[in-house]
Amino acid sequence: MSLTKKIIIALILGVIAGIGLTFAPEAIFTGLDMYLLGPVGEIFINLIMMLVVPLVFVSITLGTAGVGDPAKLGKIGVYTVSFFLITTAVAICIGFGVGYLLEPGKEGVFNTEAATYEAQEAPPVMETLINIIPDNPIASLASGDMLQIIAFAIFIGIALAHLGEKTVGIYRLFEQANEILNWLVNLVMKMAPYGAFALIASAIGTAGLDALGSMAMYMIAVILGLIFHGAFTYSLAIWSLGKANPLKFYKAFFPAMSVAFSTSSSNATLPVSMKTAQEQLGVKKEISSFVQPLGATINMDGTAIMQAVATVLISQVYAIPLDFSDLLMVVLTATLASIGTAGVPGVGMIMLAMVLGQVGLPVEGIALIIGVDRLLDMLRTSLNVTGDATIAYIISEKDKRDELKVKHS
Ligand code: ASP
Repeated sequence: MSLTKKIIIALILGVIAGIGLTFAPEAIFTGLDMYLLGPVGEIFINLIMMLVVPLVFVSITLGTAGVGDPAKLGKIGVYTVSFFLITTAVAICIGFGVGYLLEPGKEGVFNTEAATYEAQEAPPVMETLINIIPDNPIASLASGDMLQIIAFAIFIGIALAHLGEKTVGIYRLFEQANEILNWLVNLVMKMAPYGAFALIASAIGTAGLDALGSMAMYMIAVILGLIFHGAFTYSLAIWSLGKANPLKFYKAFFPAMSVAFSTSSSNATLPVSMKTAQEQLGVKKEISSFVQPLGATINMDGTAIMQAVATVLISQVYAIPLDFSDLLMVVLTATLASIGTAGVPGVGMIMLAMVLGQVGLPVEGIALIIGVDRLLDMLRTSLNVTGDATIAYIISEKDKRDELKVKHS
C-alpha cells in the first residue's frame, strides 16, 4: 500500500477514534492519551523536528551555492516575498468575506463576562527584521531561529559559490549531509501514519465535541475560507502561473498536507513538504530549499484567514463595529505579524492578540475561540504549507521557462 493511502486511512481512523474517545469515560481517555496516543504523537513530532534545523541549514546553503549569482538570488527573494504578501492579503480579504457573510458572532450564546485571556507579546516587526542577521549563528541553530538560520545559510552558500574549487571539499560535505538527511526523512515518514493517527485522536479527544456547539458557525466560516483560498486562489495561481493541473498538484502534495494536519506545525512539516515538492512536483531543489523554509516562517495564509474571521466574530460579539480603515489595519498587521512568528502550533493566537489590539478589540475575546483552536490549527497549517509549496512551484516553473528561453536564444 502506498504511503499516501496509509496516511489517509490513519487520518480517518484517527478522527473516528478521537470522536469515540469523547464518549469514553474520562479516566480511559486520560490513560490512553498519557501512555499511548500522547507519546506516539510526540515521538513522531520529535523525529521530524530532529531533522528540521540541519535540513534547512544544509539545503539552503546548497541551494544558494547552486544558484550562485547573488543577483538571481535577489530576484528569487523579491518574487518570493511579493507572492507571500499578496497571497496573505488575499487570504485576509477572503476571511473577511466569509466572516461578514456568515456572521459567526451573531449565532449562539457567547459568555463574554467569563472570558479572560493572557496575551503573549508578538515580537515587533522592526526588531525581527534587524535580528535576521544573527550575531551568534550557533545560538540561532541551537534555538532553531528559522530566519537567522536562513540568513546564515545564505551567506555560507554565497561564499561557497564564490570560492568554487577552493572549498569543493566542504561543498561535497554539505551534499553528503543532504543525502543523509533525505534518507532519514524517508525513514521518519514511514512512521507518519501512526503519528498522524495518534495526534489526531488525541487532539479531537482533548478538544471534545461540546466546545463545538456555539462555535460551529465560526468553524464553518474558517473552514470555508480555507477551502476557498485553496480551491480558488491557489488553483488559479497553479493553473495560470505554474501552467499545471491543480488537482494533480494537490494529489502529489497530499502527504505533506497530512503531516501538517497532524502536527499543526509548518516548521515540523518542512522536511516532508520540501521532499514532496522536490520529488513529486518537480520543484527545483535550490528554489524549494529557499522558498519553503522562508514560507514556513513568514507565509501563513490559513492563519491569516482564521485571524480575519476571528476579528469579525469578536467585533460582532462585543458589538464594536469595524470601519474600512480598521479592516485595512487588520490586513496590514496580520500580514506583518506573520513575519515575526514561527510556524509552530497555536502561534496564530499570539498574532491574533496583536491584530485585535491594533483595532481596539478586546483581547479577552480570544478566550471564546481558544477551545476549538487546536482543531482549526490542524486545518490552517495544511493550507499554510500548501501556500508555500504553491509559490515554490510557480517560481521554479518560471525559472525553468526562463532557462529554456536563454537556451533557445
Ligand atoms: N500552526 C500554524 C503553523 O505552523 C501557525 C498557527 O496558525 O498557529 O503554520
